[in-house]
Amino acid sequence: MMYITKRMIEIRNLLQKVGQSSSVTLPSIVVIGSQSSGKSSVLEAIVGHEFLPKGSNMITRRPIELTLVNDPDIKTDYGEFPDLGLTRVTDFSMIQKTLTELNQSVPDSQCVSDDPIRLTIHSPRIPDLSLIDLPGYIQVAGENQPRELKRKISELCDRYIRGPNIILAISAADADLANSTALQASRRVDPRGERTIGVITKMDLVDPEKGVAILSDRQYPLRLGYVGVISKLPTPTGLFRRETSNLLAGINRNEKTYFNAHPFEFGPDSGVSTGSITLRKKLMQVLEQQMSSKLSETTEAIQRELEETTYQFKVQYNEQPMSAEAYLAASLDDFKHQFHDFATTFGRAQLQGLLKDALDQKVLDQLAARYWNRPVEDLSVAPHEPDNIADLPKADPKSPYWHRQLDTASSALTRLGVGRLAATVASVAVHTHVDKLLDKSSFAKHPSARRVISEAASTVLADRSYATSDGIEISLKPYKFDPDIQPQEWAQGREHVVGVLQGELNQCQSALKGLENSVGGRKKLKEVMGFVDKARKGEIIIEGDHPSGAGGYSAALLSRGREAVFLRDRADIIGLRILASKSRKCKSLENKYYCPEIFLDAVATKLAQTAVLFLNVEMLNDFYVRFPREVESKLHEHMAGGGLERFAREDPKVRRHLELVQRKELLELVLGKIQDLNRFGAVPGAKGKDG
Ligand code: GDP
Repeated sequence: MMYITKRMIEIRNLLQKVGQSSSVTLPSIVVIGSQSSGKSSVLEAIVGHEFLPKGSNMITRRPIELTLVNDPDIKTDYGEFPDLGLTRVTDFSMIQKTLTELNQSVPDSQCVSDDPIRLTIHSPRIPDLSLIDLPGYIQVAGENQPRELKRKISELCDRYIRGPNIILAISAADADLANSTALQASRRVDPRGERTIGVITKMDLVDPEKGVAILSDRQYPLRLGYVGVISKLPTPTGLFRRETSNLLAGINRNEKTYFNAHPFEFGPDSGVSTGSITLRKKLMQVLEQQMSSKLSETTEAIQRELEETTYQFKVQYNEQPMSAEAYLAASLDDFKHQFHDFATTFGRAQLQGLLKDALDQKVLDQLAARYWNRPVEDLSVAPHEPDNIADLPKADPKSPYWHRQLDTASSALTRLGVGRLAATVASVAVHTHVDKLLDKSSFAKHPSARRVISEAASTVLADRSYATSDGIEISLKPYKFDPDIQPQEWAQGREHVVGVLQGELNQCQSALKGLENSVGGRKKLKEVMGFVDKARKGEIIIEGDHPSGAGGYSAALLSRGREAVFLRDRADIIGLRILASKSRKCKSLENKYYCPEIFLDAVATKLAQTAVLFLNVEMLNDFYVRFPREVESKLHEHMAGGGLERFAREDPKVRRHLELVQRKELLELVLGKIQDLNRFGAVPGAKGKDG
């Protein structure tokens, strides 16, 4: 008994996991009735709990898809809202509260919503049933209710009372049956009364003779018949909420007392059906038969779905399997592979190049500060500044001034924190590469996993950063006092620094070009520069930084002019120093006081070489070993608790592939189950189309 309904409900739940397919619809019992016809009372009498929203102003605004699961092994009844993630709610007043809130979340302007609330109730005392509670029909819209409410409720009910659903049409005994909205609606979709059960409530409110007359009605004959009930809940006694068993027993007792008191009208020979227990049994039987009659049709529908899914799987994916695990593993493998390629090509030489570039900038800074400056013409500001750039070519190698200059510049270079600079340069370079690899990898489509990997790189790099920079500083100590440059190193420095200076010169020139364009041409810029030059020599007096400019030039134009003058002077100086560095005089290490550019370059190269030895072992090699492990472990944490599935689905292509595979697997599972049902569970005499 009830074997098929139970299995079919399980099958329906499985199908819902891949999104209910339109071709596979399993029958439910749809409950309709006018407001106050006793619809809620009937449902609660079936479930054995008060759980539906109550109150004079309370109108059900959303369908409630109620699944009853007979669970013989549980001690306490409970409800679940699968869409809300609410599980094992044993307090039925909480269920009532939740339903009320879900109902109220539908705005007045929308009247009713066809987005169903799904609720499952488990109990050892209920039958397996699939019921849908719909908003009660209203006669006239109330004062605060929107006009179209009546029509919208009726339309919503019409959508649900279609076949293969069974209609439970509720009418109250104390109202004229001819006016029953529920029966009228059922008539429209089930004119021969083949899948409608009539429920007459409030049997206690009419004379027994009238009651019998209603139940044996010939005007609206229903093949499944009418059942008369008294489902008014007994008034609670004592302080406690009514227990299920008490509630069911109470209703049962009430009904028995009443119907037994009128044996002539309602006795076994009367030919009418009465009582909530009878109604429950009828619902079970009718649903079981309906499910059973839909078995072959449903099996075929599932078979068709499966065939279609299998076909799609073949044409779209060439039957290539897909799982979230496999996708992650493949993505990770690919990334690790790319990383390995990077690790084998990025080593000491590359690091040294990068660090030397950074140090070249520091060398240029020292040169600009100590050698390439001219005395400021405004004597009131800096009266004693020497003209380094003018005097450098005739520097006396015995003069303590030039000795001091070179010593200070070189020691400033060795003391600027090369350890930190080197660790930073290496970190930035490695991190930038990792980010580039990520951009090209499939993780680019997964922002949060991408962040996890990028952060793993930061963590591993930061971990070694302090120790590495300290180690480098210690290894550089000897150079802080005596850089000791060899002739060979001098020759290399000479060659290299000319390139650095040339690069700097090019930058100055292109910046000048940019300024020319921004002011509207070379002529214009020359004009402004002329004005700035004159002002600098004191030939023109500009009073303060006038916001509106001076000499017919705007403040913005003057500022560009000043910038251009600076760039021009720097370019001139660098040009001279390129010539000097290339000159015969600078060929020899002896003349280092004339050629500080070469000397400082050679020192910088020495620093970079030594720093990189340390950097390579302490930071880079360590990173190459630890980073892949860190990525594995951090991703593992990230993918816990449903993260893996979420991750895979972030990529729309993978999501579609996954969904199809999962759908196919699920349909195969469902088909297996339903074929078992066909083999073992078919109810005798339950064949035929509509029950
Ligand atoms: P709904 O609006 O259709 O859900 O109706 P309710 O179940 O809320 O019932 C409306 C009113 O009728 C409530 O006051 C119930 O107590 C009462 N009622 C329901 N069934 C019966 C019944 O069988 N007999 C009597 N006397 N009252 C009932």
